[in-house]
Amino acid sequence: METMSETFRIGIDLGGTKIECVLLGPDGEEVHRRRIAAPRGVYEHTVAAIRDLVLEADQAAGHKASVGIGIPGAMSRRTGLVKNANSTWLIGKPLAADLEAALGRAVRIENDANCFAVSEAVDGAGQGSPVVFGVILGTGVGAGVVWNDRAVTGRNAIAGEWGHNPLPWPTDDERPGPPCYCGRQGCIETFLSGPGLAADHQRKVGAVLSPEEIVDHATQGDPACRETLDRYADRLARALAHVINIVDPDAIVVGGGLSNIAALYEEVPNRWSRYVFSDEVSTPLLRAKHGDSSGVRGAARLWP
Ligand SMILES: [Zn+2]
Repeated sequence: METMSETFRIGIDLGGTKIECVLLGPDGEEVHRRRIAAPRGVYEHTVAAIRDLVLEADQAAGHKASVGIGIPGAMSRRTGLVKNANSTWLIGKPLAADLEAALGRAVRIENDANCFAVSEAVDGAGQGSPVVFGVILGTGVGAGVVWNDRAVTGRNAIAGEWGHNPLPWPTDDERPGPPCYCGRQGCIETFLSGPGLAADHQRKVGAVLSPEEIVDHATQGDPACRETLDRYADRLARALAHVINIVDPDAIVVGGGLSNIAALYEEVPNRWSRYVFSDEVSTPLLRAKHGDSSGVRGAARLWP
């Protein structure tokens, strides 16, 4: 038999409420997928749950496959310990070392937004673009930078994390901005997350609507909801103009619940040229191709 590529890759998306596992075959096709409720509160249970998912995927692959894991946080390069995780029982734990011991192989762990960006860069909306900035606009705001299909982790393991930068070019009524759980005010996340969008609408209009309702009503012509989405588009344009000025990515890919706002893909590029330091801005703003699967697919793609 010829020695053709038989690379099977396991991806794990470790979320706060669920753990998802996918096995990608040599051509990137999904061979096996499993989703379980995430054990909460006890670190050892999380390690055991991931180990069991990997061993099951190994069975489907017929051999030990590579393992990549996306986590809602980061592995400190300095200490080898988890940091910045909203699943707080992971913080300060040597997750990579413990999983390597449990699985008998090297594992790669990246922030889940970085995994999203890798997935969209490798075979998603950003395919073919050397530098991709991937943004998740959901209950929070996360982002990652990918260079030639590899996640840029960064020395402090925070590359791409601009959700807690202040909203740039703020108007008077955007200062100092809503309080953020990080302790600051006016973070990008407080405006561009789903809860941030709903809170903005409530502040301006007084009505309590979900992000989905705001989008629906705007589509039906409700002027107040349209204005709320206009403000949202302008803020996203400003936030991304900062990114373009620093990274100048070949493509920006948007995922998360708010990536379903179809108007953004026209409105935001229409607006960001006012803020980008360039006479031309040709950066494509693209909707994620793999939707909710980008995180787990990108985790598998942490191995080339
Ligand atoms: Zn913040």
